[in-house]
Amino acid sequence: MFDKVKFKETVETILKVDYGKTIENAEEYEKYNGISKAIMELISDNWNATEKLYSNGKQAYYFSAEYLMGRALGNNLLNLGIYEEVKDTLKELNIDINNIEEIEEDAGLGNGGLGRLAACFMDSAATMNLPLTGYGIRYEYGIFEQKFEDGFQIERGDNWQRYGDPWSIRRTEDTVIVEFGDGKIKAIPYDMPIVGYNTKNINTLRLWKAESIEEFDFQLFNDQKYDESVKEKNRAEDISRVLYPNDSNEEGKMLRLKQQYFFVSASLKDLLRKYKSRFEKDFSKFSEYHAIQLNDTHPVVAIPELMRILVDEENIAWEEAWNIVENTFSYTNHTILAEALEQWDIELFKKVLPRIYEIVEEIDKRFILELKEKNYSHEKIEDMRIISNNTIKMAWLGIHGTHTINGVAQLHTDILKNKELKDWNKLYPEKFQNKTNGITPRRWIALCNRELTEMITELLGTEEWITDLSMLNKLEKYIDDEQVLKRLLAIKMEKKEELSDYIFKKEGIEIDPNSIFDIQIKRLHEYKRQLLNAFHVLDLYYRLKEDPNMDILPRTFIFGAKAAPGYFRAKGIIKYINEIAKLVNNDPDIDGKIKVLFVQNYNVSYAEKLFPAADISEQISTAGKEASGTGNMKFMLNGTSTLGTYDGANVEIVKEAGEENNFIFGARVEELEEIGGSYNPIEYYESVPGLKRVVDTLIDGTFDDGGTGMFKELYDSLTIGAHWHRADNYFIFRDFDQYREVHKKVDRAYRDRLDWARKCLKNIANAGKFSSDRTILEYGKEIWHIEAKKIQ
Ligand SMILES: *Cc1c(COP(=O)(O)O)cnc(C)c1O
Repeated sequence: MFDKVKFKETVETILKVDYGKTIENAEEYEKYNGISKAIMELISDNWNATEKLYSNGKQAYYFSAEYLMGRALGNNLLNLGIYEEVKDTLKELNIDINNIEEIEEDAGLGNGGLGRLAACFMDSAATMNLPLTGYGIRYEYGIFEQKFEDGFQIERGDNWQRYGDPWSIRRTEDTVIVEFGDGKIKAIPYDMPIVGYNTKNINTLRLWKAESIEEFDFQLFNDQKYDESVKEKNRAEDISRVLYPNDSNEEGKMLRLKQQYFFVSASLKDLLRKYKSRFEKDFSKFSEYHAIQLNDTHPVVAIPELMRILVDEENIAWEEAWNIVENTFSYTNHTILAEALEQWDIELFKKVLPRIYEIVEEIDKRFILELKEKNYSHEKIEDMRIISNNTIKMAWLGIHGTHTINGVAQLHTDILKNKELKDWNKLYPEKFQNKTNGITPRRWIALCNRELTEMITELLGTEEWITDLSMLNKLEKYIDDEQVLKRLLAIKMEKKEELSDYIFKKEGIEIDPNSIFDIQIKRLHEYKRQLLNAFHVLDLYYRLKEDPNMDILPRTFIFGAKAAPGYFRAKGIIKYINEIAKLVNNDPDIDGKIKVLFVQNYNVSYAEKLFPAADISEQISTAGKEASGTGNMKFMLNGTSTLGTYDGANVEIVKEAGEENNFIFGARVEELEEIGGSYNPIEYYESVPGLKRVVDTLIDGTFDDGGTGMFKELYDSLTIGAHWHRADNYFIFRDFDQYREVHKKVDRAYRDRLDWARKCLKNIANAGKFSSDRTILEYGKEIWHIEAKKIQ
């Protein structure tokens, strides 16, 4: 039970010890730290008990270069079931819990969907009492902070631990040494508690920080060479300094490879140390006790690293070691975009990891023999071998060296098996599985949408749905209940008002909660087609100008997205949308009928305010390109219809909630395959009414790109292509007209308020499948073979 008096005392003690202050004179961030640490005190015993309970059986480990955690305080209080108690306690101390929550910096140790998936999995595993530990990198700087200046994206370093990090414990005693071709460094683990919901179990996220073995060079310091004296220290610490801000694009940089090997090697050494303290030199049971999931190819270097440890350090025969490796690892494929498939130049790889390179060579050599024995042709072997064209293919290594490969939505898995990885599926048909992604209902409804949560709990008469989301289907019986539908609309309005207030505070822009909130929030990428959305907004603007009496409902188009700093086109699209916003929002003729807003610094905590307030969820990627999407699921769970293509998990969302309750448009995968090479975007450009008018604004002086050439380059990419792709590679022109038509359908549907509410409710009632609890239970049962265990 929560003890108010004791909690207050703990906070007071921490403020005294850490800052020499009282609650009255502490800064807001100091109060935040004190409260957070008091929670750490509260969970400490259960955390230790969980580790102890898990330690004697099989455990799973999630290796991921990214964890997009967001804020911890509110989530931990919710999961511990003491949110209201702590809120009341703080009130007695004259502290508003909302202010304290808003002080916390997001732990933005990831880029987008892949990193957020890892965070949702952590929450779900703890809640489902599954022995899953996360391993990753404690970046000093997470995903950059984004600002707009004159409509251009400006990046600033994200110093998220500026005011401390009350949620991590440095475990110096578990330090390990990682060796590179050019020297050794220390890896120091920081453990974060992962608090399960409605359970005592506390799981662990262990993130490694890089430090040099020598603190600084005392000799150089004495000789007053201060800069040089810390050079080695800085060089080592650079390894965990910053998150690479790329999403869906690989960056073949030496430092990136070092990061990957750094955390993977440290994590394996950590596991082996624990294993050996129990089984000594008997490695035959290793895979009976360890299941390691490789989140995309970023940690795939774990395969040769474990081989190296077993063969070089533990003197195990190659075949036996390979058996252990294959039975331990599994790999998740997140993309089929060619530009995102990791490959390492062998010269670079050799320089950073000379011994690991030799091991990869041996793996490759033996694999070629395996294929030869199976009578594979020379060409097939060249296609499939791990080292070819002077590069190491990390995806191929990830498939060859694991027992299971999974896609992240049914359509994506089908495309992998039947197309992109067809040869591999033929070679290893038993290895392929689907695991449709999910999202945690704790953060994505219980925490961010209390009003809706309360309503559902009332209707179902229990809170159990929060850990068994399939129960939402019991809401179906209210589908014609006017009172329920009206309440749903009222909740949506309340969340829209909250968002409007927040946006006014953050962006200084007023939006009208009575307008339709049409939202596209996700990383900026050509395949996600924010540009299609932009063209439609502009087309609507021109149509309104032509016909001021056009009967449309007021609409607010909201965008949120970060562009990778080196992704010129993505930055051009941001600038372009900001230019459209300037034009539309300042035109008195438009009279508030449409408004365009690009929010700055879209991140997890902003997301928590945006998803509950949306009327329309924009999921408009080119069919076949979005592996799953998880943003689509967050919208659905908050009662928002999808306006989208048949892509990724949209297919499954529509299957669950009914096509009539969503707005599907555009070419499907099969159709695009058929069009294939014969696609001629210019035909559309010239014949689809209004299309040329909007596309030409990229070059006709309507908008100013500040002399950067960004807009012209975008125009060229659509009309003539570039040396690496054909014109309009993502079929924007092909889908434009259908996209416009489906928007008209939205406008009509929204007018029947009760019927609209029915669509919202249908989506909520059928969102059960998209809980990451379901996903993680499937991984546990079908890939890792682990059992739930609950502490007392
Ligand atoms: C869910 C989420 C994503 C993933 O969004 P998609 O639409 O699936 O690409 C990215 N960023 C943040 C902050 C998220 O919360």
